[in-house]
Order: sequence, then C-alpha cells, then structure tokens
Amino acid sequence: MKTKAAVLYEANTPLVIEELDLDEPKGGEVLVKIGAAGICRSDWHFMAGEAKVALPAVLGHEGSGIVERVGPGVTSVKAGDTVILSFVSGCGRCHFCTTGKPNLCDLHMSTSTTMMDGTYRLHKGDTDFTPLSKLACFSQYSVVPEVACVPCPQELPLDKAALIGCCVTTGVGAVITAAKVEPGSTVAVVGCGGVGLNVILGARLASASKIIAVDVSEGALEFAMQFGTTHTVNPSQQDAVARVWDITDGLGADYTFEVYGSGGTVEMAFDMARKGGTVTVVGITPDGDMPSIDAVALVRQEKTLKGSYYGSTRMQADMPRMVDLYMSGHLNLDALVTRTYHLDEINKAYEDLVRGEVGRGVITRF
Ligand SMILES: [Zn+2]
Ligand SMILES: [Zn+2]
Repeated sequence: MKTKAAVLYEANTPLVIEELDLDEPKGGEVLVKIGAAGICRSDWHFMAGEAKVALPAVLGHEGSGIVERVGPGVTSVKAGDTVILSFVSGCGRCHFCTTGKPNLCDLHMSTSTTMMDGTYRLHKGDTDFTPLSKLACFSQYSVVPEVACVPCPQELPLDKAALIGCCVTTGVGAVITAAKVEPGSTVAVVGCGGVGLNVILGARLASASKIIAVDVSEGALEFAMQFGTTHTVNPSQQDAVARVWDITDGLGADYTFEVYGSGGTVEMAFDMARKGGTVTVVGITPDGDMPSIDAVALVRQEKTLKGSYYGSTRMQADMPRMVDLYMSGHLNLDALVTRTYHLDEINKAYEDLVRGEVGRGVITRF
C-alpha cells in the first residue's frame, strides 16, 4: 500500500512530504493508522545532525493510532483497537526483558534502525527508509512490532495517547519509578519542555513540597506554573544553583532532574542536589557534550547520579497506569497540548519547537 510520510534525507534540510510504499505486516507485526504524533525534541536532534540515524529515515517516536490489520500470529491486538505506540519494543526474551527492564531491551537496541528481523517496511524504488524507533509515526500508516502496541481505551483522545507514548511516561516515570520521590520532598527540574513538564506533573503526583522549575525561557517558566510548579528560576538572570539552595533553606533539593540534554545542565542538576540527594538525568545530550562531575562531591556528599530511559518503566504495564492517572484527573495532559498540526505542516511544527513555543505540539491530521 501507499502512505504519505515526512522523510529526513539529510540533516539540516527540511523534511520532505512524499508517498512511500509500505509493506504488509509480517509475523508479529501490526499495521497502524497513525492518529497522533508528538513534536518531540528527540526527533529534532536527528534533523539537526546532533544525533545519528541511517538516512533516509521517517522520524516520529511519540505516537498513537488505530490498528488497521494484523500480521500472522498477532494475538494481543486486533483491527479497530486504539493503541499507544512504545518507542522501545521489548522483545520479552532477552536478559533485560526477562529481568523486568524491557525499556533496555537488547534486541530492540541491536536492531534499532530496522524492524526486529533486520528488514524494512517503508520503501521507494530500491531505497529502504529507516523507521525511527520501529515506529515512523510521521506517516499516515506504519507497520510496527506487535510488542510496540499498548492497547488503551477508545475514550482516550489520540493526542493524549501519543503523549503517553513518550513525554508522559518518560517524565512521570522518572519521578515515580526511577527516582521514587517521597511525599514532602523538594524537587528541582532543569528544562521545562514537554518531558520537563511531565516531571513537574510527576512531582506533584508524588506530593513534593517544593517543585522548582528551572529554564532560560520566561514563557516556559510561566507555562510551568499550571502544572504544579511552586518556584521558578531563570539561569540567564541569576545564579540558578545558588537560588535553588536558597529556596531549599540552604540544603539543596532532595531530588533534581536534568531534562534538557546538555553537559552543562547535568552539572547544574548535580550541583543543585543536597547531600545525599538524587540526581536523575533524563535529557539526551548531543554526541560528545560531556558533563564534568566533581567526583569528590559525589563521594563526600553521597549524591546519587542516575540515568532514566523511558521513565525506567515497563511499558506494557506502566502506560495503562498513566492512562488511568489521566482519565481520573491526576495528570493534567489537556493543558499540555498547545498546538496541533497537519502532517504537511511538520517543518513549521519543528520551527515552533525550536523557537521555544511552550507546551507540546502534536500532529493530529494526516
Ligand atoms: Zn520523545
Ligand atoms: Zn528484550
């Protein structure tokens, strides 16, 4: 069949909207009509050449949709089901999947730019197209692994479902699953984009007493107030580390989160944490941008420095929990979506992201 998709041919050039050939789903695969795809900064890193992916590629790793057809042997979803798409396909059999860490699945990582069997479903002529994260959500239709499909209730709006596929699970999961923030603790969040706002939502869910939003954009800080932020700090206007220590009565924050993705902001989050505090790094830094961490402080101040990928969640088990939290009014995802686009407007959508428009943009029309 044919599908219209946004193709990245070369870094630092606009995405090209064109028609590609899409194979039928093979065994253990599912054809999904994409319903919504989030405009996430992780895709931008590939467009800007800050991260590498085999080109040409169809990006889009934050998505949801309706199952159109299933391939042989598929039992967990059927035509008509609403699904959240997981950008890691946990194989269920490798060391990490079988020890409760499907977000770190070995088979997914080793086949990262192809389907699980090392082949492609998107083509044009003799050219194969990389499906980012095996999802390629910037397309009308996509063939994805069955294990990437997380069934969800039909009442869940598709744009919210897409966000649960990346920024919600990554941000809220980092707080409740990775850092395990305790009620009454103090939290600083460096970077208030889509994932950062979800860290703030997670911190509120965990009943943090102080939630300090840190960002160089006044607009982002103002927007973050809607989600449970109690204090804002702008590093372009003040010494952000000193200010966080001030707000936390000279102790430093119990939990800090780095959600921007740079060496400098990892250092900032490390320095903002109190003795014995936990620093959770969520942002993906560009290749080669290394933080310089004071190893003596790490020891003598007993700080914990940890990474969290995909919220350290088990996607099939934890995404339905995120759905329930949204449906029961505990996660304010409605205010998070500030702009919607047609697929044809995708380059504008990324211009808006780079320009610093607040909240999340979502492609909802294909
Ligand atoms: Zn993302
Ligand atoms: Zn696995």
